[in-house]
Amino acid sequence: MGAAPVTGSCLCGAVRYRVSGPLRPVIACHCRQCRKTSGHHVAATSAAREDIDIKGDLRWYRSSPTARRGFCPTCGSNLFWDGPGENLSIFAGTLDGPSGLAIAGHIYCADKGDYYEICDGAPRAPGADPALTTMAPTDAGREGKG
Ligand SMILES: [Zn+2]
Ligand SMILES: [Zn+2]
Repeated sequence: MGAAPVTGSCLCGAVRYRVSGPLRPVIACHCRQCRKTSGHHVAATSAAREDIDIKGDLRWYRSSPTARRGFCPTCGSNLFWDGPGENLSIFAGTLDGPSGLAIAGHIYCADKGDYYEICDGAPRAPGADPALTTMAPTDAGREGKG
């Protein structure tokens, strides 16, 4: 829809990526694996795999029989979750600059940590919720962002 490509990277810059297609709204995942890997909970957008160009020494950790997680071996940043489905999840904190995105839902809320509350008004699911994780991308708020 004419939106400029979005870029992102790990903390040290050794892994960089560029997304040429639309991004899904951000979904927060409070599952145990996401809490362990991120140190809190994960907030991820996603995009079609063929629209994501990854450069650098990205490594993959096989976190379950059906999923793997992409990280930078130098600085340890977590960047991607790769599981079933057509999209690759991109951890929203690794995006460069303003994303124009917003959190649109929470999944695996039954597994969340006990030290925080989910205080925004976005929909919450106790476990997986395909209605949230396969939500259509939106270009709202993305045009004109530098
Ligand atoms: Zn790095
Ligand atoms: Zn998770």
